[in-house]
Amino acid sequence: MNILSQDIMYLPGVGPNKKDVLNKELGVRTWGDLLEYYPYKYVDRSRIYAIHELQSDMPFVQIRGKILSFEEFEMSARKKRVVAHFSDGRGVVDLVWFSGAQYIYKTYKVGEDYIVFGRPTVYGGRFQFSHPEIERASELQLSEMGMQPYYITTEQMKKRNISSRAVEKMVKAMLQKIAEPIPETLPDFIVNARHLVSRDTALRCVHYPKNAIEMQKARERLKFEELFYVQLNILRYASDHRRKYRGYVFSQVGDDFHRFYSENLRFELTGAQKRVVHEIRDDMRSGRQMNRLLQGDVGSGKTLVALMTMLIALGNGYQACIMAPTEILAEQHFATIQEFLRGLDIRVELLTGQVKGKRRQEVLDALIAGEVKILVGTHAVLEDPVRFQRLGVAVIDEQHRFGVAQRARLWAKGENPPHILVMTATPIPRTLAMTIYGDLDVSIIDELPPGRKPVQTIHKYDSQMTSLYAGIRQQIRLGRQVYIVYPLITESEKSDLKNLEEGYAALCDIFPEFKISKVHGKMKSKEKDAEMQKFVSGETQILVATTVIEVGVNVPNASVMVILDSQRFGLSQLHQLRGRVGRGADQSYCILVTTYKLSAETSKRIDIMCETNDGFRIAEADLKLRGPGDLEGTQQSGIAFDLKIADIARDGQIMAIAREEAQKIIDADPTCTSPEYAMLWRRLRELRDTNVNWAAIS
Ligand code: ADP
Ligand code: MG
Repeated sequence: MNILSQDIMYLPGVGPNKKDVLNKELGVRTWGDLLEYYPYKYVDRSRIYAIHELQSDMPFVQIRGKILSFEEFEMSARKKRVVAHFSDGRGVVDLVWFSGAQYIYKTYKVGEDYIVFGRPTVYGGRFQFSHPEIERASELQLSEMGMQPYYITTEQMKKRNISSRAVEKMVKAMLQKIAEPIPETLPDFIVNARHLVSRDTALRCVHYPKNAIEMQKARERLKFEELFYVQLNILRYASDHRRKYRGYVFSQVGDDFHRFYSENLRFELTGAQKRVVHEIRDDMRSGRQMNRLLQGDVGSGKTLVALMTMLIALGNGYQACIMAPTEILAEQHFATIQEFLRGLDIRVELLTGQVKGKRRQEVLDALIAGEVKILVGTHAVLEDPVRFQRLGVAVIDEQHRFGVAQRARLWAKGENPPHILVMTATPIPRTLAMTIYGDLDVSIIDELPPGRKPVQTIHKYDSQMTSLYAGIRQQIRLGRQVYIVYPLITESEKSDLKNLEEGYAALCDIFPEFKISKVHGKMKSKEKDAEMQKFVSGETQILVATTVIEVGVNVPNASVMVILDSQRFGLSQLHQLRGRVGRGADQSYCILVTTYKLSAETSKRIDIMCETNDGFRIAEADLKLRGPGDLEGTQQSGIAFDLKIADIARDGQIMAIAREEAQKIIDADPTCTSPEYAMLWRRLRELRDTNVNWAAIS
């Protein structure tokens, strides 16, 4: 049996108790799993400082010497401070503890040779280390000490005495027992071409690097490998798909498109819109099925691109559909598209949960008969027994969760899969897009239609509400409308809802002269739509809402977005909400109201929002601040995100190289059958078998 698949129970010092914790907390079951439990940081312990070398701005350092004596200081009736005077023969420092006196006296002895590790600070004219790590010098095998690895440990682990140090010892014991070289999992030609260290070296060094360079090389190799297999999996899938399904060839643009373009369109397309339409046009006549992700900031005019895409399908004798995440949005698209197509003889129908009974049957019948050319609906169109006669293009709006599995459902709707255009205003940084949508091509609209005034973003504290209300009143008197958004966080939905209800009541008192709508997730969708509709039509001036208004809704007359408790929102959410205003010609405002005390991270979020309207900058910042696992939608995307070592936010370059190598392999062996690459395919299968998330794409 492969030593790496041995149960960790059989590792010295583990046993059934610790095994359980490691299983539950880390998913670590085998030696191999533990080997892939990588340190999250390292501290250089290769050097021992003399006490007289210490400086006040040093990070963690270690010194070696003996305790001369202990001393105690009363801090209060029940608290004392224990100080050990510690010397290396040439200088003296104080080791300080504010608790645990008994343990200290029991463990540390005067005159014993110790290595002390900590951050030196100056106190009373002398260096001190508070709560330092102390080890007997004889136990440390100094010659072997290089970079010390630090492992993430959970509360449960700590309770069972599995500290980072304990993990370190387990890994060390294990590595000593693995005498044979750990098998290579990348082909030689890649290892050589990319100057990677072997898997054996990498796995040993990642836990025990002698120096920073060794650590770097080990981590680079492991990151590469991880991203390489992610990309190989995606690209294999995409290639497989391409071979199985042809794409409809739309050889012409068609009359509908031309008539729309020359007669109905009242404005110039932006340069970016033109470019994207060309890209889409090229996809659709290539014979390959289009799988394109269209990213464009809110208000950049994606709907129009979608419409023109659909018209190309119509021009070639096919039908098209566009799906939105909510009924309100679907209705809006329906209205917009009808308006755009006025005077053209194209039947457009709406299909949402609201369309019922006989009416629904009519739409469905006309759809299968091919009379309905464009179907507008919610994502429920996917689930419903909705049959097209010849579906040529499907557009999915505002849905970055639209992963592979959902797309697959669409393919079942025709003889060939329709061309697919996924649109999102949540800009996904390139490296992330490559991973979530690795098999998608990406188009970007990076230009807003002319004449838009950038939204002005202002930060206010909740102590400044009076002046805020005055500003709102002034805007409404100018004929504008205002959104006021309350946070809604699932854990405490009830109290949040109360928050919103109370806020609504208070606003009714503050603004008796205005009409106010209220929308939240707990309302029935019919009720919600009715309230929303009142705001859209201008009957109400203020819309009090939770984040249900986040995506897509278009009320050009609304010029103020007030976000209460902004500190509780993520960056991309704030940006999405802000995108609801700034759609008309007037100057718009986004007011971020926060509590007075803010964490450093929250301050950063608010600052970025006030500084820029650029969705891509915001998305990058978001990814850096939160990490990809948190990005809305990535969890459900159907692609592995439990990366063990690579970091999508930071390892973009490695990802690009990994993808390049993976692409070469797929090009050389598109059917994944060549014996030359057998090892790669075997490894990929192994990874898919052990990784739940990976299975979703297979
Ligand atoms: P989003 O990309 O957020 O979906 P929309 O498609 O809703 O943006 O477009 C926002 C507004 O801009 C719409 O009212 C649309 O008619 C308008 N618009 C789109 N393209 C142009 C353009 N090239 N010139 C002027 N206005 C445009
Ligand atoms: Mg839109």
